[in-house]
Amino acid sequence: MPITANDPNRKTWLETNPDTDFPIQNIPFGVFLTRDDIITIGTRIGDYAIDLGALHQLGYFKGIDLTDDIFLQDTLNDFISDGRKTWRLVRNRIADIFDKENPELRDNENHRKHILFTMDEIEMQLPVQVGDYTDFYSSKEHATNVGTMFRGKENALMPNWLHIPVGYHGRSSSIIPSGINARRPWGQTMPEGATEPVFGPSKLVDFELEMAFITTDANALGEPIPVNEAEDYIFGLVLFNDWSARDIQKWEYVPLGPFLAKNFASSISPWIVTLDALQPYKVEGPKPEREQLPYLQYKGKKSYDINLEVYIAPENAAETKVSTSNFKYMYWNMAQQLAHHTVNGCNVNSGDMMGSGTISGPTPDSYGSMLELTWRGAKPITLSDGTERKFINDNDTVILRGYCKNDKVRIGFGECRTKLLPAIKQ
Ligand code: CA
Repeated sequence: MPITANDPNRKTWLETNPDTDFPIQNIPFGVFLTRDDIITIGTRIGDYAIDLGALHQLGYFKGIDLTDDIFLQDTLNDFISDGRKTWRLVRNRIADIFDKENPELRDNENHRKHILFTMDEIEMQLPVQVGDYTDFYSSKEHATNVGTMFRGKENALMPNWLHIPVGYHGRSSSIIPSGINARRPWGQTMPEGATEPVFGPSKLVDFELEMAFITTDANALGEPIPVNEAEDYIFGLVLFNDWSARDIQKWEYVPLGPFLAKNFASSISPWIVTLDALQPYKVEGPKPEREQLPYLQYKGKKSYDINLEVYIAPENAAETKVSTSNFKYMYWNMAQQLAHHTVNGCNVNSGDMMGSGTISGPTPDSYGSMLELTWRGAKPITLSDGTERKFINDNDTVILRGYCKNDKVRIGFGECRTKLLPAIKQ
């Protein structure tokens, strides 16, 4: 089925800014609280939030096999469960409804009143109930940088890294949408030169620039997903800031990996940009440096050219861009990650979320964490207000942004914005 929603020549009757992340070619999915305090599933064009529940009730999805309440839910999980064919039909239909040439809704003021909201009237929610959250470690530059800092250049990459998309199971309860504050965590650390651990607020709170993909029900327990079918089970992507407490992490991670250093908060952008919308931005990924096992070998392009940026805004000061990276740098792509995740028969459900791992590029200005950007604090960054940062200070806001652009269309992810509040008093 063609993805007519991606037609680069299509224009909408809604007023949109030419630089918007949300032209009619994007049509992401999210969940929001309306001005009447009703939760609904919606999409966004320009600065308008569109109530899909209202559109459905008014008959605009006629001919598409949808249950009556599919959009009157507080998560997208059931809609995502309906599968790729339904997502594509709905997205194509939304594009038709808002097409400049289509008068059906354009000229129906009464319907428009029920369906359209401005972004400042609504409050975005978490788009899915995340059942399981997995985080990978798939940027070679990031793994090499971190490995170099902790083990030296010669042993930077562990022997498994070029053979396995390394990952760990995270925790979904502390995933928060953009706009919700995080808190500096307390924890146990072993200060440099000390012989006994101490307890206190983390001194080294960091962001991790990541993207995460959301899956649909993919496989029955025991059945692997072949790498070349994996993308059929990916609904879409969000920006993802995997907040990390480096001092807690360093002391606790042996031998089972990250634990409390990573699960105090992880922020996502609230609009899920579908894999369908990202099709025009597919690119070749990095060439494998070692032959990969057959279950990880894939055909065609499975990487995506998504420009990524990180900004830090101190309290009452302007933001400063601290990193410019790209999702295409990932050594292991999403299809390989999902094939690997299920190769043992592990089942994946609707609303599961898989983080990419920190996305660092080849140059120092493209590193995806403060740990790398300041090289563990050795090279502080100066912000535009003149203050220096080694890691993230109390009341700093970290903002991730991401967009794709070709010669015809730009689509983006909006923002993943989180303020770090001081540690609670104990
Ligand atoms: Ca991470």
